[in-house]
Amino acid sequence: MTDGPVDQNSATDAPTPRRKPKPERTQIGGRELKPSTLMMGHGFDPALSEGSLKAPIFLTSTFAFENAAAGKRHFEGITGQREGGAEGLVYSRFNGPNQEILEDRLAVWDGAEDALTFSSGMTAICILMLAYVSAGDVIVHSGPLYAASEGFVAKVLSKFNVSYIDFPAGASREELDEVLERAKKQASENGGKVAMIYLESPGNPTNALVDIEAVKAARDEHLDYSCPIAIDNTFLGPLWQRPLDHGADIVAYSLTKYVGGHSDLVAGSIAGAKKWMDPVRALRNTMGGIVDPNTAWMLLRSLETVELRMQRAGENAAKVCEFLANHPKVEGLGYLGMIEDARQKDIYERHCLGAGSTFSVFLKGGEAECFRFLDHLVIAKLAVSLGGTETLASHPASMTHLSVPHARRKQLRITDNLVRISIGIEDADDLIADFEQALEHV
Ligand SMILES: *Cc1c(COP(=O)(O)O)cnc(C)c1O
Repeated sequence: MTDGPVDQNSATDAPTPRRKPKPERTQIGGRELKPSTLMMGHGFDPALSEGSLKAPIFLTSTFAFENAAAGKRHFEGITGQREGGAEGLVYSRFNGPNQEILEDRLAVWDGAEDALTFSSGMTAICILMLAYVSAGDVIVHSGPLYAASEGFVAKVLSKFNVSYIDFPAGASREELDEVLERAKKQASENGGKVAMIYLESPGNPTNALVDIEAVKAARDEHLDYSCPIAIDNTFLGPLWQRPLDHGADIVAYSLTKYVGGHSDLVAGSIAGAKKWMDPVRALRNTMGGIVDPNTAWMLLRSLETVELRMQRAGENAAKVCEFLANHPKVEGLGYLGMIEDARQKDIYERHCLGAGSTFSVFLKGGEAECFRFLDHLVIAKLAVSLGGTETLASHPASMTHLSVPHARRKQLRITDNLVRISIGIEDADDLIADFEQALEHV
């Protein structure tokens, strides 16, 4: 800044210094740096924080403006009177340094222009949907969805005259064409539009994959481009599936799972082109729901090892599944590394870079056999959730999916002999020994 009295115009023309230098280096000699490299420093300049190598946690509710004109400029951005949103930091319901660094780094993983963080995966998903729907609109979604997502569409948005049409995750192009035509008709009857195509792939707990490329082709043919394709990528992202490369516009995460990765925080995010993020940012500014600075800092730590952790968990899961697939008390596996269905295998090969570490085991028997198995596990903990460093196991039919009506459960193959497992980063042979002894009790 210049010395002397500040002249209003120059203060307006020259934005206040940001927390980071622009543009940032993401290349060396034409070589694009990989996300795992960028996770150590991207979006943070130590010189702006007393040389601190790691970003401090900024516990503040508000940020001091350099002068009144800068304050005006910030609010023009926040309220949409000037394009481009907030330039610099304003108030902690809108943004903060830890959250902005986290958003920059999350965008890197998905190859997105922009990202937004939230206090939970469900906050991210609910604010995303709310930002795009109006009364009369229709949401088209794949099924099954995470139960709370499905509930938000069916029970909450319906109160505001937003309806939905769902289709099975494995739907073909022809089925998608039919669904979108039906959705268009329903929307025009209700005086609205098809507001969003919302996907979750793989679906939980069946692991059925959605053909994102087919969904995009169908959207491009039947709807206009103002209808975004959003996808919950919690199960395979950010390492094993990059939906924006296959035609999705917005990717959503429960960061609570693989990204946080240590089962010690709850958070969520979305990422995509800035034009898709802006309406959601505006609603988040109004409602709140941004992740807090402590959790954002924990997530920055987690992102430094996300590739290592996911790789190891994926390798462990492959070894454990190899063992389980050949066990006489196991009826079958729902594991992406062992898909039999030709269409699903084709989607897997086009969309996925790894089989993940969360899968279903179908034991010979029913609930009693599953409970004996679960109750004898020593290393694996009995808990819902997934994607942590530790191995978890649960029984969806009596736990996460207990509220799902019986007929729908049957349709989704959520049978009484299904055990859901999320493999962690322990020693693979120790895990196999644990599963082996627990199966002896079945
Ligand atoms: C856990 C989960 C969510 C919800 O995330 P929270 O962080 O618990 O709010 C959404 N989608 C999927 C696929 C999940 O596994």
